[in-house]
Amino acid sequence: MIDPLVALRHDLHRHPDLSGQEGATARRVRAYIEQTNPAQVIDGLGGHGVAVVYHGAHHGPTVLFRAELDALPIQERSVAAHRSVRDGVAHLCGHDGHMAILAGLGESLRNHPPVSGRVILLFQPAEETGEGARAVLADPRFDALRPDWAFALHNMPGVAPGHVAVGAGPAACASVGLRVCLQGREAHAAQPETGQSPAPVMQDLLEWVQAFQGAHGRKDGCLATLCHLNMGQPAFGISPAQAEIWITLRAITDCALGQLEGQLRDLVAQRASLCGLEVQISRHDHFNASINDPDAAAIVARAAAGLGMPAGDFALPMRASEDFGAFSAVTRTGLFFLGAGETVPSLHNPDYDFPDTLIAPAVRLFRAILDDCLHAQGG
Ligand SMILES: [Zn+2]
Ligand SMILES: [Zn+2]
Repeated sequence: MIDPLVALRHDLHRHPDLSGQEGATARRVRAYIEQTNPAQVIDGLGGHGVAVVYHGAHHGPTVLFRAELDALPIQERSVAAHRSVRDGVAHLCGHDGHMAILAGLGESLRNHPPVSGRVILLFQPAEETGEGARAVLADPRFDALRPDWAFALHNMPGVAPGHVAVGAGPAACASVGLRVCLQGREAHAAQPETGQSPAPVMQDLLEWVQAFQGAHGRKDGCLATLCHLNMGQPAFGISPAQAEIWITLRAITDCALGQLEGQLRDLVAQRASLCGLEVQISRHDHFNASINDPDAAAIVARAAAGLGMPAGDFALPMRASEDFGAFSAVTRTGLFFLGAGETVPSLHNPDYDFPDTLIAPAVRLFRAILDDCLHAQGG
């Protein structure tokens, strides 16, 4: 018989929801988790978030564990029976696996309730857009749930299966998406000099982005990625007036990210004014860097060691961003990464699929972290 947590993961994988539209996924998770006898289930937190609360018999700290509800707007390439039934939407970041792990922790809490304290399993919406964690924190009902500790894991391709990457300090990069819109004036393609084309500025921007590729060696982790561009109309007779370019910037710290953004804004302003173009720049999908509390990182490392799972600060910080960083502002946080295997596709690739074999060890790891937190504070 298939493990119920694996079956849950496959069911979630088959029916993915985009960021901010996770109502159906939240209902699936809720239906499963209600069988674990929680003291309370709170729906609609910061959007479609679900918080599941368990009480210990005695007073103690509140420990929160987070998983994400959302999938990605990418067409999956898979022949698996549990592949997405929704065109152009798929769980390619492994959030389906993270939800199954949290559901497994719920089962562990049903079978062995915490002796003390309070446990919150948070199924958070809209992680991929960087909005969900902030929205949950801003929900007035979250005030009653404020944790003393918050933990989250992310699966990590490129690291051996079951190896735990954890360390104090930066765990995931800060990032921001910049949408740059340039407006000039059209001209005949035979007389481009009579118009104001955004093409030269686009070229400068592409060169600037290119200079930040291959960020492996950069200590500050600065990386610029071209995500989308659009210029003019598909007509050979017209020199274009408009262009739009979307660039994602990332860096290890919020400060380094701010400097990188400043550099790009200066470059655009300078070149656009030379070409007589109007510029509009808007910010999107902003993520703070996720910074681990040293004690929280030590608890994760200890829990991994106790279970014989190899742990170290290899591959940290992760180049991708995590909106879990927003929790660092309100409590002690520990974000760590669980190796998904060296040869599996990367996250957000159309053929990524969360390895089912990680679910059981990750449940044990979360439980060991919880028990350590409760024990450490007199539980
Ligand atoms: Zn992702
Ligand atoms: Zn993710």
